[in-house]
Amino acid sequence: MTAPAPTPIAAVQAAVRVLADAADAGATVVLSGHVQPDADALGSTLALAEGLRRRGATVVATFPEPFTLPSSLGWLPGADRLVHPGGLPAQVDVFVSLDAASTGRLGGLAGLLGSAGCSVVVDHHASNPGFGEVRLVDPHAAATVVLVADLLAGLGVELDEQLATCLYAGLAADTGSFRFGNTAPGTHELAARLLRTGIDHAAISQRLFDTAPFGWLGLLSAVTGRATLEREVGAGIVWTWSTTAEARDHGLATDQLEALVDVVRATAEADVACVFKGQDDGSWVVSMRSRGATDLSRVAMALGGGGHRAAAGYSSAHDLEGTLVELRAELARAL
Ligand code: 5GP
Ligand code: MN
Repeated sequence: MTAPAPTPIAAVQAAVRVLADAADAGATVVLSGHVQPDADALGSTLALAEGLRRRGATVVATFPEPFTLPSSLGWLPGADRLVHPGGLPAQVDVFVSLDAASTGRLGGLAGLLGSAGCSVVVDHHASNPGFGEVRLVDPHAAATVVLVADLLAGLGVELDEQLATCLYAGLAADTGSFRFGNTAPGTHELAARLLRTGIDHAAISQRLFDTAPFGWLGLLSAVTGRATLEREVGAGIVWTWSTTAEARDHGLATDQLEALVDVVRATAEADVACVFKGQDDGSWVVSMRSRGATDLSRVAMALGGGGHRAAAGYSSAHDLEGTLVELRAELARAL
């Protein structure tokens, strides 16, 4: 295994320069992660927002509609200050996109890339096509929060419990609690720095990974009970489905569908695990995970989405059977 390349220092410096100038001028900076934000998107947004606020910028942290905060993330420090995208200032000096793999992932906020005085893109997706004026995009970074930690250091913002809690949430989530292949020595070094601030990492992990309403067990049972194994597709696929309506039937918010794939992915006989999540408008949002043999970033890109080698996703306007037919063909091609 080759050592991962260090974060391009020039890219960090260029982004720091823009953000430091904005802070010094008291400029208005709007920050957003991707639609249906996860811990990395929100942790990055909230940590950088707070750092810039401390440096003197006028900061607005937001995320694209539907503006619904998952219950597993509502406790993040600063989440109560998130502003609905409908309430953004008319004049935005700098727009910062965080953990968004493409302009589409910014939903209704994508227009800010062009209308803001300057746009800064901070991301770690292998599928990122390159957008925005100032780009800090590093596919070797385990999480976008790793890049935000570099930015905060460059801005001279010292890490404290509040910032470290946001950063740790993103780091633990995107590395699967330091289990996935994206975990490098530097990942643990950053985790050590975060722990030294005094954060309650056990409480963070419990809230993120080990807390769900009782109804989730019923949903899990239904969803795993209808899982299908197709050994002959690609390097083997295990798939199942649920819908936003089914989540509600179990008394759950629809974001409770997100953790299902983490159970399904344990299937030894399949390299790829898929959960098809039916939306209210009839479309399907697809979450995919690979055990290592399949490059899902490429599979997802071919289907109009994106992500990482081991974790990627896309949306499909076909019905479930049509979505499956298309995916099977793409997985066969990917091998
Ligand atoms: P998840 O299955 O957890 O929603 O997403 C897995 C990974 O794929 C995440 O890094 C996420 O940002 C990325 N991803 C998920 N859906 C899409 C999509 O529709 N487009 C792109 N470009 N990336 C996606
Ligand atoms: Mn991420």
